[in-house]
Amino acid sequence: MSSYIPERAMFIFAHPDDIEFSVAGTAAKWAKHGSEVTYVVLTDGNVGSHDPDMTREQIGQIRRKEQAAAAKVAGAANCLFLGYDDGSLEPTLALRKQLVKLIRQHRPNAVVCGDPNMYFRGERLNHPDHRAAARAALDAVFPACEMRLLYPEFEAEGIQPHKVNFVLITTDQELNHFEDISESIDTKLKALYEHRSQLGDVDYSDRMRERASTIGKKVGLAYAEAFRRFTVTPLPIPQEEVIQ
Ligand SMILES: [Zn+2]
Repeated sequence: MSSYIPERAMFIFAHPDDIEFSVAGTAAKWAKHGSEVTYVVLTDGNVGSHDPDMTREQIGQIRRKEQAAAAKVAGAANCLFLGYDDGSLEPTLALRKQLVKLIRQHRPNAVVCGDPNMYFRGERLNHPDHRAAARAALDAVFPACEMRLLYPEFEAEGIQPHKVNFVLITTDQELNHFEDISESIDTKLKALYEHRSQLGDVDYSDRMRERASTIGKKVGLAYAEAFRRFTVTPLPIPQEEVIQ
């Protein structure tokens, strides 16, 4: 299915830089091939600084700018911020409603998000905001965004229910979808390097390439990103003809 390019795609993640560290190769590739890509970044990353002189407002503004620049590098059409506080994100009903509205407005065929069950990956503990963002995204996609009687006020505004075709979760469990990012890994790294406030002097290029190469080797690709894919609404034509 790595040849599938959704007409519209939405990437929903917790922090500025989450997309660049994980799935920006897929975003850049899809955008390059004509997909209308929308990033939805739930928090401003406004505790992401160890500088004793930095305030939450200042670092939040810096990180929004960095994220917007990274989205531009990847060719994303939209980069939206919901402005939640970093470090205390919860998958609330209020957040679900906000995401349902955005999904109904932007009508993505594919939604990309994190793994709501991931407490650790390898030797690293996962950030609770990442799980919260993933759960909020999944709960907005199914079934909320397609239920006409849920949030009827949106319909009154002319915003219709919407059915997403696929959800792609970035994870390391039960992988069933690999995106070939050989053509976009350079763009992914370029986008990552927009997050100057976060990277310090560490050179992430080698480790990012190595990780994408290790994933790619599983399926005979130079560089890949791996997902667990769910079909929420099958495509109207047999998937085998679209997914090769
Ligand atoms: Zn993060």
